[in-house]
Amino acid sequence: MSNTQQDDVRGILNETTMTIHKHETGTEGLRALCGQTYHLEHGQLRMIRVKQATETLDAEKCGRCFENGRGY
Ligand SMILES: [Zn+2]
Repeated sequence: MSNTQQDDVRGILNETTMTIHKHETGTEGLRALCGQTYHLEHGQLRMIRVKQATETLDAEKCGRCFENGRGY
């Protein structure tokens, strides 16, 4: 199984691409760990647990935020 600790963190889901990013904690707003800062409309992004996004929404993990992610 994958690292459950890593999967149980809060992430940012981009509902347009269905990609889940790790949320960079300690920052204001929606900033991903990979450095991507979002300027999208509300409703396209969602704060969600990573595990929930991948298991129930079949979201792709960002390859830069997650070592076991796919793509880039
Ligand atoms: Zn990312």
